[in-house]
This record gives sequence, structure tokens and C-alpha cells, in this order.
Amino acid sequence: MSHADTVIIGAGPYGLSLAVHLAAKNINHRIFGHPMQFWSKIAAAGGERYLKSFCFGTDISTPSRGFSFADYSRPRGLETFEPCSIKDFADYGLWFQQRQVDWVETVDVVRVERRNEDFAATLENGESVSASRVVIATGLAGFANIPAEVAPLAPELVQHTSTIERFADFRGHDIAVIGAGQSALEATALLHEVGARAQLIIRKPSISWMRRVSSNRNPWQRIRSPISELGTGPKAWALTKFPGAMHLVPAPLRTHFVKTHLPPEGAWWLRARVEHQVPLHCGTKLTSARSVGGRAVLRLRNTRDRTEFDLAADRVIVGTGYDVDVDRLSFLDRGLRSAVARIEKAPKLNATFESSVPGLYFIGPASAMSFGPLFRFVAGTAYTSKIVSRRLAFRTSKK
Ligand SMILES: Cc1cc2nc3c(=O)[nH]c(=O)nc-3n(C[C@H](O)[C@H](O)[C@H](O)COP(=O)(O)OP(=O)(O)OC[C@H]3O[C@@H](n4cnc5c(N)ncnc54)[C@H](O)[C@@H]3O)c2cc1C
Repeated sequence: MSHADTVIIGAGPYGLSLAVHLAAKNINHRIFGHPMQFWSKIAAAGGERYLKSFCFGTDISTPSRGFSFADYSRPRGLETFEPCSIKDFADYGLWFQQRQVDWVETVDVVRVERRNEDFAATLENGESVSASRVVIATGLAGFANIPAEVAPLAPELVQHTSTIERFADFRGHDIAVIGAGQSALEATALLHEVGARAQLIIRKPSISWMRRVSSNRNPWQRIRSPISELGTGPKAWALTKFPGAMHLVPAPLRTHFVKTHLPPEGAWWLRARVEHQVPLHCGTKLTSARSVGGRAVLRLRNTRDRTEFDLAADRVIVGTGYDVDVDRLSFLDRGLRSAVARIEKAPKLNATFESSVPGLYFIGPASAMSFGPLFRFVAGTAYTSKIVSRRLAFRTSKK
């Protein structure tokens, strides 16, 4: 069995960024996973799709200059403010990987377990690697949240937005989309645009839309509502300028903040593609669902007058977000999973992103409960990579 000081699982923005920072500090490591797979899959599903973040909010952190998203986009004549296409972002990530992290091994990790003082990682190709430290950077994979109300439906009648491989496959079908956030709104627009008969079901009385931000704002506008990697406003600005501060906030307060900071809302560029295009059932709660003759029948309740009605569809698509849960990381040995202390279902991490299992680190969206909302986004790669690489360099030097 070969040995690496550190194994990184996942080659999305977080895994790639950490690998470059480790290499800059000469820390022996291996990184496994298909680079930018999450983003390439979104782009491959088709349609006009954009990031919600600004271009400068989605730089993959590296100690070298010349590798920001804008550095990639400018010479190619691509957007350098917003909206930036998801396809361009996926291509930027691959360009970054080829130039900065060409040692990525494109194979998945299927199992991680404790082996004496070390960890043993088994790869999809059967190889086993021992490692003193393991960093989990698998993003939102495996964390799709499916509401309990649709559980009675036959599996082929319901799917999460993250599993859509080709929107065009839904052409000519009746689709009920559930959710009020960007994923549900975007799926509704894309389904409509490929010729599906989409309807959107939203519990809230109305849809919240983000406002377009001008790249040329006067000094007063910039002071009142500063622009940052997380959007506009003083809170977003503070989260990006003091990225480690949320870790110091007592866990109950932080957890509440993480859950409520960014309520579901749609990007400004989606509005005209949804409003007046498809039937919108706002103020409508899904109460139950059943399969009838190969179709889904949803029981819906109007939250104002409490009247109920049925809606039938060929397929139900849920855009109901993600729920980080260590128990859903199927490649982690059961004993390791149960040894990871939690904040709710997410890992509880110390100030260097290490879990209660010594040597086991979590970065990316899985760290948001411990570090705050910034770490759900690519913008969190700079702080994460700096802290984790520094910590691993310190540990390696003490060995
Ligand atoms: C629809 C949507 C839109 C979003 N838009 C934005 C946005 O505009 N801006 C923003 O900052 N964030 C956005 N996000 C959040 C986004 O998920 C994160 O910012 C970002 O992808 C996190 O990077 P990551 O490296 O942690 O995870 P990912 O990008 O998901 O990468 C994880 C990698 O791990 C790999 N992997 C998974 N399991 C294994 C395994 N067992 N072995 C090896 N490799 C594995 C995957 O293949 C993948 O390449 C969006 C999320 C969604 C769902």
C-alpha cells in the first residue's frame, strides 16, 4: 500500500485550491476525483445557465498570480462582472486544474477507514492508499434534500434538480417544480424553454428576486451597500473581510445565522424567464403525493384560505436544497462517521477545519455550519486553503 501525508478527496474548487496551496508548501499529498465534475454536469444539462456570484467572487484561490476567473475570461472576451455562464466557470476550473494542479488523479474514492494511526483510502480502481491526513472536499455530492411529502411517489416520478442530466428530455411533459430558490426557479425556466409544461409550487406568498447591481456605482452607493464576493450589503461584506470570525460565534447563534442568512431568492436575470411564462402557485403548500396510473398527483393547500386541490404531473422536480449530513457520506466507514462530532448533522470543526477525528478534515459546504455561509461558496477557498495548508505544514514539520 502506498503512503501519502495527505489525501484530498474531491477535485472541485475547494480540493483544487487546497492542492495548489499544499504544493506551494511542499506538503506531500495526492488528490482524487474528477475535476469540476459538479459544474460540468450542470453545464451539460443544457440551457442558458449562469452563476449567481460575481466573476470576482468565484476565483479559485492559488498563491500564484494570473489565475482568477477574470484572468481566464478577459482574453476570451467573456463576461468579467455578471452574469457569468456556468459553462465558462466549469471551463475556467478545468483550465486552472490543467495549469495549477496537473497531478489530480481522476478516480473516485470508494472507502475511507482507520488503519492504526493512519487512514486507508480505497480507490475505485482497487488501489489502496494510506494517509496520515484525509481532507474531504466532495462538495454537495450526496446531500440533496428530498421533502418527505414526495416519498410515497414511485422513484421514477420524482427527482432532485441536481440529478437532471438533460433538460431537453422533458420536452412535451407536464412537470411540477417545487421550491422557491435559485435551483427551482432556474429549472422552471429551463423546462419551459425546452418545451415542457412546467408549473412552479412555492410555499411563500411570492418569489423574492435579487436586484441587478451596477458595476459603476457612486461612492455613496458603495459605502451604503458595499459590494463583496457574497453580493451587496454590510453583512456580506463583513463575512468576506473577516472570514474566520463566524467560527468564534457561539454555535447556536451561528447555526441560526447560517440557516437564515441567505433566504431563497432568484437571480435578476431569471425573472423575465419565469414570471408570466409559466403557472406559478405561490402561497401553496405540498401536503402529500401519490402515484396514479404512472403519474404523480400532488395534494396542495392554499396557505391563505386553506383550500386544497390536486395537481397531476408526469414528473415532480424538487429544488429544495441540500442538507449536509456526515451519515450520507457513504464512502466513509461507519465507525469513522459515528466518531465525527456534529453540529446538527454537519461535522463540528475546530479552527483549522479538523473534525473530532484527529487528521480528518472537511472543507467546502460541509464546513459552513462551523465557519459560516461564506464557505458554501467558491469565495471561501482563499481562507480555507490558507488555514488548512498552514496547519498541515506545521504538522508535517513536527513529524
Ligand atoms: C445550482 C447551484 C449553483 C451554485 N452557484 C454558485 C455560485 O454562483 N457561486 C458559488 O460560489 N457557489 C455556487 N454554488 C455552490 C457550490 O456548490 C460551491 O460553491 C462549490 O461547488 C463548492 O466547491 P467544492 O469543491 O466544495 O465542491 P464541488 O464543486 O461540488 O466539487 C466536489 C468534487 O468532489 C468530487 N467527488 C465527490 N465524491 C467523490 C469521491 N467519492 N471521490 C472523489 N471525488 C469525489 C466531485 O466529482 C466534484 O468534482 C452553487 C451550487 C448549486 C447547487
